[in-house]
Amino acid sequence: MAATAFDQLRLLFPENTTEKVVTPIDQDNNSEKYQAAVSRPWSQTCWIPAAAYVYLSSVQELIQALAIVRKTGTKFAIRTTGHNPNAGFSSAGETAVVLDISQLKSKELITADEGVTVAQFGAGNTWGDVYHWLEERGLSAIGGRDSQVGLGGFLLGGGMGALPNLHGLGADGVRNFEVLLADGRLVNANANENSDLYRALKGGGSNFGIVTRLDLATHPLINVQYTINLYNPDDHVAINQATVAVQQAMEEDPKIGLFTNFNNGFVAVGLLYGDHPAEPPQAFGPFHNLKSLVATALQSTNGTLLSLAQAMGHPQTAQKRRICTITTKVSHDLYEEVFKAWGEVSKTLPTGAVLHYTIQPFGKAGVQAGKARGENIMGHENVSQCWWVFTCEWPKDGSDDAAAENAIDAMSEKVQSLANAKGLLLDFKCMSFATASQKVLGSYGAENVKRMREVAAKYDPEGVFQKLQNGGFLLRDNV
Ligand SMILES: Cc1cc2nc3c(=O)[nH]c(=O)nc-3n(C[C@H](O)[C@H](O)[C@H](O)COP(=O)(O)OP(=O)(O)OC[C@H]3O[C@@H](n4cnc5c(N)ncnc54)[C@H](O)[C@@H]3O)c2cc1C
Repeated sequence: MAATAFDQLRLLFPENTTEKVVTPIDQDNNSEKYQAAVSRPWSQTCWIPAAAYVYLSSVQELIQALAIVRKTGTKFAIRTTGHNPNAGFSSAGETAVVLDISQLKSKELITADEGVTVAQFGAGNTWGDVYHWLEERGLSAIGGRDSQVGLGGFLLGGGMGALPNLHGLGADGVRNFEVLLADGRLVNANANENSDLYRALKGGGSNFGIVTRLDLATHPLINVQYTINLYNPDDHVAINQATVAVQQAMEEDPKIGLFTNFNNGFVAVGLLYGDHPAEPPQAFGPFHNLKSLVATALQSTNGTLLSLAQAMGHPQTAQKRRICTITTKVSHDLYEEVFKAWGEVSKTLPTGAVLHYTIQPFGKAGVQAGKARGENIMGHENVSQCWWVFTCEWPKDGSDDAAAENAIDAMSEKVQSLANAKGLLLDFKCMSFATASQKVLGSYGAENVKRMREVAAKYDPEGVFQKLQNGGFLLRDNV
């Protein structure tokens, strides 16, 4: 099937075929390009050789490529940056093609209804591209904390930014999605047009179409004061107390942002504030009072979303990675039990593998900010919450995949059962941080699953995105 498809795909680009359709057949003169495409994803677990990588540089090319894929019944994956670590989501095996849309980098400002300035970005832009371009114009938009992550997967998965309580999640800031449907139509989805699709896309992933452009609400330049401190993990009781205290303070002050990352030998704490106060905000006092500070990874900086995202950007390192997520209410007791479980599970890991986890707070103000901007599809409860993300990283050739993968599954089960026993477990699982087997779409609640099924049936009646898409959090098996 793939062979027929890429013969036809090549015909689309007679002038520069081997630039646009990269296959292993061209190994002799194109092997570097092919290897670069295979190894683009952030996690080595996704370095799977596909039948072809098709580089689309315009929406028109994408429309033609999708038509061929559909007509030939070829499996496909959509890729922007390849940051999602689940194998087969933005990567695919030898019978499938990867449609790479990272070249869709258009950028434009428009004045929308009520004089609001909206920024239109091609789906291939990264958050670094977006912040840089907006800040040159004195503007900001709500996006990711890492400059290299792409708009597509981030926004379709909800998207947790540095200051999630200030204006809600990334998805809540999308004013309009331009979407390529399976039948080749390019439609807009916003509050007035295809509003059912609009809501479903705000957290519903790649179930309904390929998003080609995202129109984001802009804000006057958002200043951010940030610092990243490293603490000794032996002080976990006080570190967890300080984390809870800052989470409580967030409910009063939506400019506060925080992450607490328990890692091998250190705890990295990001103290973020959506302004440039003359003095560090008092809310961070519980961390400033800790005696266990071992180093400052990032000095207190008066910056912006761009400079923060650049500081948080990462070099590409060849590591296999697996992640999972759980959402709970805020509780010092639970945080301590999770710390102990982490210690136990870490002991099961082979040499060279590292398990770390991050407490990511999301407050009631964030839930409400989202509601105020129109509903999304994620069904968040109106409580102060913690979006845990557990990450295992291990060298490709160094150790046992199964042990590392089991460690993530063990953390997921343990934290779920600990939180459940205390009545602190929340259903929601954030797509951005979930492992493939987690039922993300099902976690949004029965009513939202029904909505998403109706939208999929209406906009993709033949089920192309369910049947031919290689992987993803799809309605076919993720509820
Ligand atoms: C270093 C790092 C930092 C991160 N930081 C954050 C963070 O601060 N907050 C947060 O919420 N998440 C964060 N994430 C998670 C990230 O948002 C997800 O991994 C997301 O899926 C990446 O999207 P992408 O488009 O960059 O990557 P890809 O892997 O290319 O795409 C991810 C998924 O989305 C689909 N997809 C992508 N674009 C489109 C499109 N236009 N139309 C339809 N489907 C599409 C792909 O098919 C794939 O299934 C981070 C991840 C990493 C590795």
